[in-house]
Amino acid sequence: MPELPELEVVREVLKRRVVGQTVTAVEVVPPGGLIVVRDLTREGFEAGLTGATLTDVARRGKFLILTFDPTLYLVINPKLTGRLQLATPSERQRANTCVRLTLSGGEELRYVDQKTMGQLYLTREPADRAPIPDFAGLGPDALAVSRDEFRARLKPFRGEIKGVLIRGDFVAGIGNAYADEILWTARIHPYRKRTSLTSDELDRLYDAVRSTLLDATAKVRAQMGEAIHREPRDFMNVHLKTGQPCPRCGAPISMVGANQRITNFCRVCQPGGLIKGM
Ligand SMILES: [Zn+2]
Repeated sequence: MPELPELEVVREVLKRRVVGQTVTAVEVVPPGGLIVVRDLTREGFEAGLTGATLTDVARRGKFLILTFDPTLYLVINPKLTGRLQLATPSERQRANTCVRLTLSGGEELRYVDQKTMGQLYLTREPADRAPIPDFAGLGPDALAVSRDEFRARLKPFRGEIKGVLIRGDFVAGIGNAYADEILWTARIHPYRKRTSLTSDELDRLYDAVRSTLLDATAKVRAQMGEAIHREPRDFMNVHLKTGQPCPRCGAPISMVGANQRITNFCRVCQPGGLIKGM
């Protein structure tokens, strides 16, 4: 699942490679394309984008916002398995390709989504004024909050700290994988209640959010290169490292949960919390 670091690098690559180019053709590829595309303009997804020039690529949390001239926005929420890909037209189309935008520079920007859970909203209104689920209530970007703002925004949430970190209405951009990494860095057990955290722990948590996300962005930038459909994650310390030695203390990494909601942590470095599974 792409989170802040991956999407930040995708934004950088798109900004460098495709801003200034005009969309010369649009193909919504069935069946996936028909599921993921949401045309809020009611003018037609293909008709609206064809001839539009990409002027900017922005990111807010786990959303990417492509701005076009004349005024048009393509707001992408990749969810679990959505990926963008830059390809030459002759490059074989990956399975689960949902949308292909041909660009005046000769490349194609493709949206691929194995589970077709992501969404691509086309709107003539800016994203924060358009009826896009989950966007309106989004908190500030996780890297854009000050220490004081971070503490203030935490206050209303009283539950388990991992669950709070991944709430988009707290801060935007942190998902299941980086929440595990952040809590390991901060040495805080994922099931500690927010209300039980000391002032010192809140400081460590804020520092860990910044250092983990910035560090990961640099690593993703180095490993992903221009292959924006890839999701390099081998640098993680605990997430999906069940049973492997903790890089800090050597104890085996614990796992709780299943499927996309796995939580990994180190019982030695991150003590406490209610016992939930093994
Ligand atoms: Zn450890």
